Amino acid sequence: MGDRARETDGATAQRPKGDRPLLAVEDLRVHFALGRPWWERGGDRVVKAVDGVSFQLRRGETLGLVGESGCGKSTTGRSLLGLVPPTGGKVWFDGREITALTAAQLRPLRRRIQLIFQDPYASLNPRLSVGAAIAEPLAIHGLGTAAADRGDRVAALFQQVGLDPNCRDRFPHEFSGGQRQRIAIARALAVEPDLLVCDEPIAALDVSIQAQVVNLLQDLQQRLGLTYLFIAHDLSVVRHISDRIAVMYLGRLVELADRDRLYDQPQHPYTQALLSAVPVPDPAIERQRQRIVLQGELPSPVAPPSGCPFHPRCPIAEGRCQTERPPFRDLGDGHWVACHFPSRDRAIAPAT
Ligand code: SF4
Repeated sequence: MGDRARETDGATAQRPKGDRPLLAVEDLRVHFALGRPWWERGGDRVVKAVDGVSFQLRRGETLGLVGESGCGKSTTGRSLLGLVPPTGGKVWFDGREITALTAAQLRPLRRRIQLIFQDPYASLNPRLSVGAAIAEPLAIHGLGTAAADRGDRVAALFQQVGLDPNCRDRFPHEFSGGQRQRIAIARALAVEPDLLVCDEPIAALDVSIQAQVVNLLQDLQQRLGLTYLFIAHDLSVVRHISDRIAVMYLGRLVELADRDRLYDQPQHPYTQALLSAVPVPDPAIERQRQRIVLQGELPSPVAPPSGCPFHPRCPIAEGRCQTERPPFRDLGDGHWVACHFPSRDRAIAPAT
């Protein structure tokens, strides 16, 4: 790690540079106006669901995006597809600033970013056979005009996700949860995307099935050169699949690092607390581990705490934390953290 940390908000550092990333997100903000009851003074209350998020995704990479429910991770993913319009910030996809494009200009690029939902049943039309559901995006995007072409493509997609093409005339309710997620993945792959935003794709599945779907996603990534933003609510899920991991808290990133660095040298107290909850397979080590239990709930994004938003729950907060928001700074080697007192500094600080 470099000697001197670079102090920055992290936004400009995420702009596309020479080796162009597939996706670059700079200072992304998604705010919602809530309105206010007539008896209260003042303007609309604002929920800052995403409040200044910046990161890059290299081609073929998987970035895990982790945080508690309500931290803004799903909103971040959906805003990349335009499903939730950003309030501010910029997003570049393959070198083009998509936040500056009109709906018509965005349409051809939109095909290249696909979303996989947590609940595949909700994303599949129950009245449509699964074969027709997979063929639908082909028709929408004008891929494979002849019915025979589309039929061949659907059969190939079935095989690609490990399903029997002879099942194509069945309906979603005739499949298990894991099979339905495979169908949803096939549907997303139908239009040959570059980037898949996987929004908790295994959270609703049995543990025994989760590993199969993660392995399938990894296999597809290798074969098709896909890039993933993999959203999850705990760190145990993303370890296996991610190259880098970003931890989100109350609409902002608090830590971003290579997977092994994040697991071996977490710098932010929130990341440390999340990691302490990840079970270790060795019972002897597991018995000796100290669990960091965070006090309180995730604060409301309508009225986030002053200074560092994590300070009401932080076990090492000091006075400065209540008034001064820590910048998202680069500690070196692509390890970013938003904390006045990262572990590295605590370890070398003189005892008082
Ligand atoms: Fe805790 Fe302060 Fe660091 Fe925030 S800035 S995480 S409150 S030590």
